[in-house]
Amino acid sequence: MSSSPFLVQLKPPAPEGVVCPACGQGGVTPVGSVWPGIHVMGRYACPGCGKDFLRDFPVGFAVDHPMAIGLPDGPLYNPTNGPGWIHVPLFESFRAPNQEPVKVERIVHRECRRVVILNTLDYLYGHVLLKLYNAPYYLDNHPDVGLVLLVPRMFQWLVPDGVAEVWVVDQPLSKAQRWSTAIDAFVQEQLPRFDEAFLGMGFAHPEFSGLNIERFSGVAPFPMEAFTTRPPHVTFVVREDRLWFPGPVAKFLYKVWGKLGLRGTVGWYHVHAQDRLVKRTMERVRRLVPGVRFSVVGLGEPGGLGADVEDLRTKRMNKETELAWCRAYARSHVVVGVHGSNMLLPTAHAAGCVEILPYDRYGNMVQDISVRWSDRMQLFLYRFVDEFASPRAVARHVHGIFADFQVYFRDNRTNIFSGQ
Ligand SMILES: [Zn+2]
Repeated sequence: MSSSPFLVQLKPPAPEGVVCPACGQGGVTPVGSVWPGIHVMGRYACPGCGKDFLRDFPVGFAVDHPMAIGLPDGPLYNPTNGPGWIHVPLFESFRAPNQEPVKVERIVHRECRRVVILNTLDYLYGHVLLKLYNAPYYLDNHPDVGLVLLVPRMFQWLVPDGVAEVWVVDQPLSKAQRWSTAIDAFVQEQLPRFDEAFLGMGFAHPEFSGLNIERFSGVAPFPMEAFTTRPPHVTFVVREDRLWFPGPVAKFLYKVWGKLGLRGTVGWYHVHAQDRLVKRTMERVRRLVPGVRFSVVGLGEPGGLGADVEDLRTKRMNKETELAWCRAYARSHVVVGVHGSNMLLPTAHAAGCVEILPYDRYGNMVQDISVRWSDRMQLFLYRFVDEFASPRAVARHVHGIFADFQVYFRDNRTNIFSGQ
């Protein structure tokens, strides 16, 4: 048994607090767990009404919105009125599960009889990475419990040192919302090996300022203390599927092309328009920050930004590319990009950022930033601009970070009551 609220007991089962969703009675009998992918659900029998049901363990997005499903075929219970993106795919795929084989590779670094299993599976890149950010909490605070990570293959390169086991799932993220009988079967095979097993929380937004991304990527992040001594460097994070638009007309047209199915034929125009915005921003920053160098990363075709720009864009991702991008971020005083999970690793390695934030993403503000600083430097170094911000506006913020850094660092890091 554990007294930590961040170790959710799986084995032996602890059904206290679970009530039957059909009749509301407690004292239910645990009869196992199911692992269809994103969700981890306990299976219970109700002695009151005789109903069997599944109920989410309080991890991942089920921390706030645990779902329950009556067996054998429903209904779905959503007691906290959780949003559809959580329960619709869950219930639909429960009723029509994916029976395809899914390979899961088991890598054992250390055999442990007591484990905490952190399930990072998700259909969104950012969600997986944010859940993975939970790993150091368990490595540092519960070293007596072996950490087992359940990760998609594309995140294997980010697994930190010190984990007991890694279960690597060969399934594209796009299929992760489906109820996979193969993933469940794999986990059921593993559970008997453990005397005691817990679930890791998988919090969606774990505190990052105490984390060091080097534990994941192996690349040391930009040290703030070296801000004024390192050669000025700015990296642009450029996506072709989420664009920086010069104005509302361009955005509207892009939407129209999407509805008409014409993005494949005319979408390139908007990608080139974005490149022009990036190029113009670079020209302005060059005038304001002497000696500045630029890198560009992103899934896309490289070229067109000038011979002196390190253009690392590619459509073929592999570990070498991921690491080359991380090294570019870690050289960067500032990373510039449109809001999205594409900003998580850049901000985890760079000192600061200027982010172009679309109106329809205000509800997700800062969720895509690996916030490294917890004092006033946070507001100084992380800047958000309008979705139709001009190259001049973006360049002014980039320049402002370089030009005003010294006085802000002195005021907020040097001349303070420290070492108390
Ligand atoms: Zn009942």
